[in-house]
Amino acid sequence: MILHLKQNIDKSQVEILAEKLNAFHIVNDGRNILISGSGMKEVPAEISQFVDESWVFANDIQLASKNYRSEKREVRIGNVLIGGNTGNTVLIGGPCSVESEEQIRSAAELLKKLNLTTLRGGCYKPRTSPYSFQGMGLEGLKLLVKMKEEFGLNIISEVRDASHVQDIIEYSDVVQIGAKAMYDQGILRACAKTQKPVLLKRGFGSTLQEFVQAAEFILSGGNDNVILCERGIRTFEFNTRFTLDLCGVAWLQEYTNLPIILDPSHAMGYAYGVPVLAKACTAMGIDGLLIETHPNPKVAKSDASQQLTYDQFETVLKELRPIAESVGYKII
Ligand code: PEP
Ligand code: MN
Repeated sequence: MILHLKQNIDKSQVEILAEKLNAFHIVNDGRNILISGSGMKEVPAEISQFVDESWVFANDIQLASKNYRSEKREVRIGNVLIGGNTGNTVLIGGPCSVESEEQIRSAAELLKKLNLTTLRGGCYKPRTSPYSFQGMGLEGLKLLVKMKEEFGLNIISEVRDASHVQDIIEYSDVVQIGAKAMYDQGILRACAKTQKPVLLKRGFGSTLQEFVQAAEFILSGGNDNVILCERGIRTFEFNTRFTLDLCGVAWLQEYTNLPIILDPSHAMGYAYGVPVLAKACTAMGIDGLLIETHPNPKVAKSDASQQLTYDQFETVLKELRPIAESVGYKII
């Protein structure tokens, strides 16, 4: 249950109420909000005098639900806005991993040339094998910051575990929580304590309910800036890396108030399928698209098979622009 408390209730009283209800307390636009589990079905009589408005939920999708906030939330990614009524589809480009200054600069130059705004590169890679390239760490993150300064691009990088989450919060415009980290409570709780936007990817074995509940961890801790990312789930199919759940995207659009980004690169796993999937995603009217691109995909240190060449990236962008426009969006 979500309770909007009346204005002018003093702080100590709010704390007493929060404790009594075992509720989270957040302040939004100067308003005190209490959030307790969905088990609570009505406002207890003894506290109703303090409550302005209340919402009851069938399950623990609460702050993220359309029932609570019918308007899609707006989230700032560096110098651009997505969600709300912005009609922006941010095309997030860049390689899977930052590998060298030369490589990440070439990606930054490409995005700049194409009038795009947002560069992504992993520095702390959550690899399936301990023997694979693990990322450049802080050195890579600083290279991304250098590209932000030189090219005016917004930057996104991924957090692998709680040990470096503060570095990502400090340097990156958006903290990406990857599919494998979606359940990591240390990361979720650290991200709840900042106002830094969070791009939360769906775990490949997670239901939509579990996915949105992970977002609730961040929202209920006071960080309003959560973006969901569908990146494919594991099914019985093995010819593609994962299965991009577009039905799930329709469900998220219908029932949640969070901006949604789609990632055809990780879903498909092979470059040949990424452009056509990206077109299908764009036609759904989405807030962002994540496409991996590399100056020479064959020698990429991670996700080599799925990264587009710069030519392929440029070609798909040309095809995506009119599709976005036809559904009232603009690729930025
Ligand atoms: C990535 O974005 O490069 C990545 C590792 O993705 P995911 O967490 O979706 O597997
Ligand atoms: Mn990748």
